[in-house]
Amino acid sequence: SDVYKRQTLPQNNNINIFPIKAFKDNYIWVIQEKLNGIIIDPGEAKPVLEKLKRQNINLMAILITHKHYDHTGGVEELIKHNPDVQVFGPENIEFEFKYTVVKEGDIISIHGTKVKFSVIETPGHTLDHIVYVDKDRLFCGDTLFACGCGKLFEGTYVEMFESLSKISSLDPKTQIYCAHEYTKKNIQFALTLDKENNQLNERYNRLKHVEITIPSILKEELETNPFLRAKTIEEFKLIRKRKDEF
Ligand code: ZN
Ligand code: FE
Repeated sequence: SDVYKRQTLPQNNNINIFPIKAFKDNYIWVIQEKLNGIIIDPGEAKPVLEKLKRQNINLMAILITHKHYDHTGGVEELIKHNPDVQVFGPENIEFEFKYTVVKEGDIISIHGTKVKFSVIETPGHTLDHIVYVDKDRLFCGDTLFACGCGKLFEGTYVEMFESLSKISSLDPKTQIYCAHEYTKKNIQFALTLDKENNQLNERYNRLKHVEITIPSILKEELETNPFLRAKTIEEFKLIRKRKDEF
């Protein structure tokens, strides 16, 4: 039944947030305000075009967290179908579409909506990675996952540790929307390090039959995510290396 399909959290009445699935385990998040929509990290265009058409949503903006194809592969096609769409992303010479470059501390407003985000730079998974945050929620791409964090393809352990520290300092009530469904495997890994952690065991039991485990809440990440619980860079590095081999 639908009850177990998705973890539900209270939402601001004017805003509806839902995922469109892409590839094997990607989520393309849609923020819907009335008939206008904002999407984050469209790796594919087709499922987005179909879903927005079916729901009668106008695509107002595309937010990009980082350069990887599973987050950007649909952008060109979406611009073709929606020539007026606002596109935001990190500085990157590899992008061939037109977009607005955003940096740490920038605040962006989405036309036709009351939605505003500020930008935080979070190098680590890639060097260009950025995340988008407002007072209630964070769209964090492949930097932070539910009970996990992104692999270090480009950045150093120090960079990723500092990027995650920025996220840890946000309001603990912040809802965390990441770009992949890796939660169960991440919790299984976390249990190998921290099997006495009651909140972690509770999280596993609560989510083991849930298909869509996102969003989570920063508070529960602070309590159960081994990468946010690491107190030093050395500890973080050790956990990241173990996870790479898990
Ligand atoms: Zn990535
Ligand atoms: Fe990804």
